[in-house]
Amino acid sequence: MNPYLMSFLILVALAVFARTMTGRIKLLMALEPADRFNRIKDRLVNLVVIAIGQKRLVGRARERSSGIMHAFIFWGFCVLLIRSLMLYGEGFQEGFRLPVFGHENLLGYLYLVVKDIMEGIVLVMVLYAIYRRAVIKPKRLHNSFEAYLVLAMIGILMISDLLYDGARCNLVNIYHAAGISYLNHPGYGPEFAWTPVARAAASLIGGLGQPALDGLMQAMFWLHICTQLTFLNILPLGKHFHVITALPNVFFKSLDYPHDKPKLLDLEDEDAWENETLGLNHIHQLTWKQGLDLYTCTECGRCKDVCPAYVTDKPLNLFEFNDHLKHELLENADNIIKRAELVRQLEQCRDQQEAEKIKEKISGLNSQKQLVGEVIGEDTLWACTTCRACEEVCPVTIEHVPRIIAMRQGQVLMAEAYPKELNPALKGLERNGNPWGIGYDKRADWAEGLEVKTMAEDSDVEYLFWVGCAGSFDDRSKKVSKALAQILQKAGVSFAILGTEEKCTGDFARKAGNEMLYQMMAQENIETLNNYGVKKIITACPHCLNTLKHEYPQMGGNYEVIHHSQFIARLISEGRIRLKPSVSGALTYHDPCYLGRYNNVFDQPRSILKDVCQGSFKELERCGQESFCCGAGGGRMWMEENIGKRINLERTEEIVRQQVSSVAVGCPFCLTMIEDGMKELEKEEEIRTLDIAELVAMSLA
Ligand code: SF4
Ligand code: SF4
Repeated sequence: MNPYLMSFLILVALAVFARTMTGRIKLLMALEPADRFNRIKDRLVNLVVIAIGQKRLVGRARERSSGIMHAFIFWGFCVLLIRSLMLYGEGFQEGFRLPVFGHENLLGYLYLVVKDIMEGIVLVMVLYAIYRRAVIKPKRLHNSFEAYLVLAMIGILMISDLLYDGARCNLVNIYHAAGISYLNHPGYGPEFAWTPVARAAASLIGGLGQPALDGLMQAMFWLHICTQLTFLNILPLGKHFHVITALPNVFFKSLDYPHDKPKLLDLEDEDAWENETLGLNHIHQLTWKQGLDLYTCTECGRCKDVCPAYVTDKPLNLFEFNDHLKHELLENADNIIKRAELVRQLEQCRDQQEAEKIKEKISGLNSQKQLVGEVIGEDTLWACTTCRACEEVCPVTIEHVPRIIAMRQGQVLMAEAYPKELNPALKGLERNGNPWGIGYDKRADWAEGLEVKTMAEDSDVEYLFWVGCAGSFDDRSKKVSKALAQILQKAGVSFAILGTEEKCTGDFARKAGNEMLYQMMAQENIETLNNYGVKKIITACPHCLNTLKHEYPQMGGNYEVIHHSQFIARLISEGRIRLKPSVSGALTYHDPCYLGRYNNVFDQPRSILKDVCQGSFKELERCGQESFCCGAGGGRMWMEENIGKRINLERTEEIVRQQVSSVAVGCPFCLTMIEDGMKELEKEEEIRTLDIAELVAMSLA
């Protein structure tokens, strides 16, 4: 069309784009390291399934229509990439085709039809997206000028290309009617039989003569090219950066299940205490992957839609959380890049005096703002229950919880600023090894008269029954411990408990940022467990399960840990216990976050409950992967809930709406929260809240 103009446009656009991207990439490279280059095969699978397959958008039952809409826009873009290359080629040589997509071969024709239909679909999806934003206005969406601008640009890209094809289709017909080959190529003409949408566009401009069609083709061609190059340069500036970063973000997502474990801090490191680098206190302490997460947030708001804190009016809005951090990151970009260079120099420096000078310069470049307090509100940080609903639903796999825990670590260890109502529970942990603060010597009292052995009495057993603090000290949960002991005895399982030697796993302390106390508890427990040579552990508490199974290996504690629902399901399938349905009325199940989303245990509790239920089993509106938290996780069990509606009440109301007679749980904290909710709603007589183990014990044949 015009090689000079095309060369000029490409060069300018690519130069500006390269400049912006270089800045963004340099900034990422200046952040802290994160090891995300392992297990390439698994990463490629994630890339195909989650990013290219758009699993989290089309695979989600809730809001499937908007998921499909987004997926088609994405797939449409992928298909159009080849077309774009050919259009750039046409700028240099009219009628240019990539070799395998030529006029005469089948692949060329097939591609044309797919591209043509995709353009039509994308156009419809863009119109639907505009309609959703302007008319339906889903609460989760952040309506911005940028969003409309980008949708308009996508629309222009589709329309201009279709009109370009439509004009060419009509021109070809005019040439053929005159007995001339268009562009001296007989391949032109038959191809339009394959492009129904372009033909529809052609019929819209059917009345135009050759000069007008030539002009229209030129106009649409350059409009398409200019829009595309402008689009490319707008992307890195706002939320649509995700068009570029989403694929790498998914590729580099954590392969640890379910996300990166909290970092095991080196509490002996004096420099870290002095330089305030324990936990996440300043923006330059982010890892490059956390920085990439911030670049990638699409502001879709799916996370806040499922967040128990946001839904109940706490000041935790994850999209704003990310946005504030991103702004802080970009504002400090120059200093972070310079700082990283100095850190590299310091590592290589052998001269003491020179090293001191570099250190001084580094501290001058440290970002000054405290993340918590100056960038993110304290109430915002502490509102999180660590339930992971946000992570599971995020289409671009952003990990929020490890970042939140790291910021809490900073608050507790460096600033000593945390909700003071946590103190009694933390003191209880320190003095008696449990957050209730009850004498440690009472830990095994629940088992009196049950003939349950302790490991001290007989450690030659197959399983350790890890009772947990709630199961040992909370009157309601002690009944669950008794029920589970009864089931194990009935099945003839060889087991023992630690009794007074067991201590809190430290889970709540860690999720509340108190890494020091966590490590203390973990170290003592691991010593005890390893002394007895424990290999297999059963527990009724998903928080204990998660910590023992996923976090203790960081400190040398490696065990096969199983939740009681998994173990009971196994006992049933092996015929070691038999059940007769004994639960009358309808029954539902509340999935505990640390069992479901954290440990992927969804089926076994349900299969057990169907065995014990005489009436019907009903799912809650929010169940399985999208279960709604009870409000107790992340140390929130031990904090006041003064802002907004109580989370347990929101969940209990949902249970009440199901009109069931019983609700089953698989976690002592969910048991407390939901029973409290029932009491507050005065429904505790109508709807019983029971642990799976209690329901099974009641139904033992
Ligand atoms: S982990 Fe749960 S509570 Fe925390 S931000 Fe995510 S959805 Fe909200
Ligand atoms: S974090 Fe994920 S789910 Fe939340 S707004 Fe950003 S992209 Fe959407």
